[in-house]
Amino acid sequence: MAVKQQVVIIGGGILGLAIAHYLQSSEQAQVTLFERGELGAGTTSQAAALLTRARSSDSAALMVHETHSTLRMLEQRFNLPFAQRCGCLHIAVNDNERQQQQRYFQQAQQLDVGTQWLDSRDIQRLLPWLAITADSSALYYPDDGHADPYTLAQLYARSARAAGAQIISHCAVNRLELQGNKLTGVHIASGEFIRADTVVLAAGPWSAALACDYDIALAMAPVRSHYWITSNQPQVDAKQPMAIIPSAKAYFRSEQSALLFGVRDSQCCVADPRALPHDIHSFHFAEDANGWLALEEHWHSLLTLCPLLEQAQLAYYLSGVSSYTPDGKPLLGRLEQYSNAFVATGCSGAGIAFSAGIGRLLSEQILEQPTFVNAEEFSPSRFAAMQPKADPMSPEFRLHCARARSGKSTG
Ligand SMILES: Cc1cc2nc3c(=O)[nH]c(=O)nc-3n(C[C@H](O)[C@H](O)[C@H](O)COP(=O)(O)OP(=O)(O)OC[C@H]3O[C@@H](n4cnc5c(N)ncnc54)[C@H](O)[C@@H]3O)c2cc1C
Repeated sequence: MAVKQQVVIIGGGILGLAIAHYLQSSEQAQVTLFERGELGAGTTSQAAALLTRARSSDSAALMVHETHSTLRMLEQRFNLPFAQRCGCLHIAVNDNERQQQQRYFQQAQQLDVGTQWLDSRDIQRLLPWLAITADSSALYYPDDGHADPYTLAQLYARSARAAGAQIISHCAVNRLELQGNKLTGVHIASGEFIRADTVVLAAGPWSAALACDYDIALAMAPVRSHYWITSNQPQVDAKQPMAIIPSAKAYFRSEQSALLFGVRDSQCCVADPRALPHDIHSFHFAEDANGWLALEEHWHSLLTLCPLLEQAQLAYYLSGVSSYTPDGKPLLGRLEQYSNAFVATGCSGAGIAFSAGIGRLLSEQILEQPTFVNAEEFSPSRFAAMQPKADPMSPEFRLHCARARSGKSTG
């Protein structure tokens, strides 16, 4: 029997667990994953978890496609149907947005993903609480949806464990051990040294601070992502499709009978990665802690678009942390400084949708197999020539990353 590669994964969020699922299932690697707290309870559990297929690049679209297939497979295997396949409307109101719709349409055709063109009356029928103009059109993805990110993370973990991976929670990795340009293993909280042929850093927004101790500057910053949920509304139900509305920089989806919505505000709320506590749910950004400024900025256009917000109570507000890179694409792959070290982070608000795609890509890279997407697009060293230098410890660079979120228009 061939000797298996010993792979240590740092971080049991959705990405670490998805990588564990793919690698261990390959039968060519023996995975040991360390999670400092509970599995899937970091930023993964904060996500709105939209799994939208329309993406800014074909590789990104392929990644989401992989997540949808794997999600279906895991639901069947563990007899736990939990994804809400309610569909998604990408709504356009001007020529630029209609051109973007055409690009999404071609992308969907290449992947054999079903879509339909809808006019304003169709949109109104599907989403009676939305007030759109008569010249609006939508590209409708009937099979899009959202899925509880915590449950998805647990299913990746169950699958990895069933294949023989060791998934260890409540055990932090405190230190990496180096020898020349290689990592030889990790030191865990108990003081034990765990030898590794390969180390994968998938520690979410904490990755940058950890890497910094080893002179690795990960080009990303912890940026605020947030959403609101209204009280239950008679016009809203769980079967209604999600809506992405670039002209309003807003998205909506139902949360049972309540409405969940988010906006891409122009406030750049960004933190020093060293300031993040272990319990991410106790963290607040220094500026606009309650999200009022962001809501105020968009309130008028939100009310025009969705008049029910005028009476609806805002029952819940979540301000969470997403790791943004300057181009809004994740950092995935081998690190330049250490030949057996890989990173999977910087998901720029799309880590749930990309999760299986990232699991597959990292597994292929670690096992030195051909990759199913263009891996260069996500290379962690793609910002090497950037000026000023891509340095997560520099406030100027972090602001640059926060602006990538403000400009984002896809899911
Ligand atoms: C408000 C909000 C809405 C979002 N909406 C969406 C959406 O609609 N669609 C979508 O696809 N994505 C969305 N996201 C983004 C998504 O949540 C992230 O991309 C994804 O969860 C990142 O997963 P992760 O595994 O990298 O990080 P995490 O889930 O944070 O996992 C990292 C783990 O590493 C552990 N760790 C850190 N340091 C160590 C150490 N030294 N030793 C051991 N363990 C360690 C942490 O405890 C943590 O559990 C949203 C995010 C937010 C905040």
